[in-house]
Amino acid sequence: MRYDAIVVGAGPSGSACAALLAAKGCKVLLLEKEFFPKDKPCGDAIGGKALNVLSLLGLEKKISEKGFLRNSGIVFSSPCGHEVEIPLLSDGKDMSGGFVCKRRDFDWIVFEKAASLCDTMQGAEAVDLIFEGKKAAGVKVRRGESLLEFKAKLVVGADGANSMVARKAGYAKIEPRHYCSAIRGYYSGVSGLRGNIEIHFLPEAMPGYFWIFPLSASEANVGVGMLLSEIISRKKSLGKVFEECLKSPRFSGRFSHARLEGELKGWSLPLASAKRRCAGNGFILVGDAASLIDPFSGEGIGNGMKSAAVAAEVLGSKLASGEISEEDCLEYEKALWESIGNDVKSSYLMQRLGRHSWLLDFIIGKAKKSQKVRHELASMIASREAKKKAADPIFYMKMLFSD
Ligand SMILES: Cc1cc2nc3c(=O)[nH]c(=O)nc-3n(C[C@H](O)[C@H](O)[C@H](O)COP(=O)(O)OP(=O)(O)OC[C@H]3O[C@@H](n4cnc5c(N)ncnc54)[C@H](O)[C@@H]3O)c2cc1C
Repeated sequence: MRYDAIVVGAGPSGSACAALLAAKGCKVLLLEKEFFPKDKPCGDAIGGKALNVLSLLGLEKKISEKGFLRNSGIVFSSPCGHEVEIPLLSDGKDMSGGFVCKRRDFDWIVFEKAASLCDTMQGAEAVDLIFEGKKAAGVKVRRGESLLEFKAKLVVGADGANSMVARKAGYAKIEPRHYCSAIRGYYSGVSGLRGNIEIHFLPEAMPGYFWIFPLSASEANVGVGMLLSEIISRKKSLGKVFEECLKSPRFSGRFSHARLEGELKGWSLPLASAKRRCAGNGFILVGDAASLIDPFSGEGIGNGMKSAAVAAEVLGSKLASGEISEEDCLEYEKALWESIGNDVKSSYLMQRLGRHSWLLDFIIGKAKKSQKVRHELASMIASREAKKKAADPIFYMKMLFSD
């Protein structure tokens, strides 16, 4: 059997890509090496970009009915301890602020959608690409004791940070300046949760941040992330940094009755600031496999699902009706960067500025005092256009002189 597309990996990027290609009329096989329900270390915050693709998938209602905790706002705190709350929801009902949902639940919802539209196989690890001449033409799959072969016009690598497809294509590269490491745990009994996602630029975790993302009134996903280059140069494990954050004077009180449920888990985050190649002859990469994580926020589900939508838009109809060429695959890469490139640039700039404690103290301190600055920050979070202001010195001058 020859498919139009084989998608390797059923994380949010792979499942979304499989479903959206199938919706364009393609015959799709979605392969997943693990079995559902499965976990993925993550902060579990689902933001605006992901919401747009969930709506393309027709999943808004289902998500809404599940009653996941919606983010009412974002709390930022600066290294010297200024804290500001930026509200995101106007009426407490719409999902524009995003929500927090364990990946165990979220990935299943998107996979279930894909499974309703295409062939799926769990416990099926893609171990190699099959080439016909120079063109990727399928995958070899290990399933239990069997080694299977499946052919397709297009192979989509959606197999995450350690992507086999990216490695075989020669596109995988770990550059510590463009890689983040992060760990997270689920904690019950955390005090002071108010429905806001919390991002704390603590001195213990600079440059990087400590987060508290609430799942309910007392349970939260808590973690810390830092650039790999920083972790290497400090010679301190992320586990140690996390421990210091929990014991810091600012948080020890809120965690005094908290209990870790399960274990701390870590994973790597390939950042979009690396701008890796993500297409070639007969294959494309989406999500973490293409290194698309936002370099400032560490949010990867949004760009991952967005890349899936771009792939389906650019290649779906062509695949359903005939063969595709290398140029078609490269067209996807071009369209993807046209769509997310400016956003990534602004985020990378914000990441570099965010390494300066004094600047974070200044901005968050100003926002704490001024409604106007809080409003500016809220629009920078919500809008791509407004985010560009981060690169504009006038924005900082205005802040300097705002009351
Ligand atoms: C600690 C931490 C916190 C984070 N917090 C957030 C956050 O709050 N919000 C956010 O948006 N992002 C966050 N991220 C990033 C986010 O987790 C990733 O960007 C996201 O999971 C990318 O989705 P994906 O589908 O591309 O890859 P993945 O979710 O990694 O999915 C890849 C899938 O491919 C499967 N697979 C792998 N190899 C094979 C193979 N050879 N054959 C078959 N299947 C295979 C895997 O089992 C997996 O199911 C965080 C990351 C970390 C590590």
